[in-house]
Amino acid sequence: MPTCLITGVTGQDGAYLSQLLLSKGYRVIGMMRRSASADIVGERLRWLGIYNDIELVDGNLTDLSSLLRLLKTYKPDEIYNLAAQSFVAASWNQPLLTGQVTAIGATNVLEAIRLSRPEARFYQASSSEMFGRIQEPVQNERTPFYPRSPYAVAKLYAHWITVNYRESFGLHASCGILFNHESPLRGIEFVTRKITDGVARIKLGLARELPLGNLDAMRDWGHARDYVYAMWLMLQQPTPDDYVVATGHNTTIREFCRLAFSYVGLNFQEHVVTRSDLMRPAEVDVLLGNATKAKRKLGWQPTITLDAMIAEMVEADLARHTNRLKHWK
Ligand code: NDP
Ligand code: GDP
Repeated sequence: MPTCLITGVTGQDGAYLSQLLLSKGYRVIGMMRRSASADIVGERLRWLGIYNDIELVDGNLTDLSSLLRLLKTYKPDEIYNLAAQSFVAASWNQPLLTGQVTAIGATNVLEAIRLSRPEARFYQASSSEMFGRIQEPVQNERTPFYPRSPYAVAKLYAHWITVNYRESFGLHASCGILFNHESPLRGIEFVTRKITDGVARIKLGLARELPLGNLDAMRDWGHARDYVYAMWLMLQQPTPDDYVVATGHNTTIREFCRLAFSYVGLNFQEHVVTRSDLMRPAEVDVLLGNATKAKRKLGWQPTITLDAMIAEMVEADLARHTNRLKHWK
């Protein structure tokens, strides 16, 4: 039975990747950072019904000793580095922490692998945010980067250090340059989930307005379940490489609002308000990916449409709030 180690196991992608790898017969070791709210932190794994199937172990990306100890103890065949301070807006408020976790943290994992488990295969969660102020209308693996936030700068460091360790030490290390991917398990602060949660609350009479920032930005949104499959495929290749993972379609935040509100028969223009404090100091106006390489070399395809994803997210948020209301009665 192959063993994998997932950092960021309690996040959106960590939960779906765990589910995928369990279904493939892996022993899944999930690294979880110590929290006073450990019962709540495991909520995504519980939502998928896999909490008890994973071995949750204590560690932190900023503590090299914890990583070394985990590699020595569990000898993973595959290591997925999904942990990060992953929210762009927060990266302006916590730029140093973002660098320490998202950039140096990835180097810690690579160092631990180099020192104690060089035969392991490694996945780094790179991001389309690295394209930032886009240098080409459609972005692929050869498009120059232009990061626009402390988060994107940190991800770019982590990306290049992964490429560098591959070239310097021959590690089987691959980067997935993933465009935005969402699901009912997306963090509530990200715009898609904020919208579907707002739709549910407004539909159930719990709120009347949804405050948002820039409605004109465009993102290439896919479903997290499809994207974690691409991560796994990358580590099954004989040679490591970097791949863009995207749908090839983009949509404005405004259009996402229209689709999500109309799914429950509401007009978004009656509820969405824009607020200047939700605008960003530097914006990534548009992202659009070309995943031809992933399709050709990995045989990967997105399978879930934007409409189907929005329906799933709105339904899940309606169910969550309905359950909460029942509890209060
Ligand atoms: P989430 O924000 O949902 O999850 C982040 C995870 O990192 C959480 O498990 C969090 O733990 C953990 N974490 C944060 N800091 C530390 C630390 N110091 N030590 C150990 N663990 C830590 O992210 P996603 O699942 O959405 O994304 C997965 C990865 O992919 C991230 O690196 C993200 O930046 C990247 N990415 C995501 C994209 C997307 O659209 N979702 C697009 C491109 C890249 P806790 O639960 O305790 O907070
Ligand atoms: P990102 O692409 O990783 O930054 O993902 P987000 O979901 O956080 O943001 C996507 C886009 O939505 C960005 O261009 C934001 O400026 C825009 N946006 C507009 N209003 C909001 C909001 O209220 N919250 C968030 N998170 N993003 C918003």
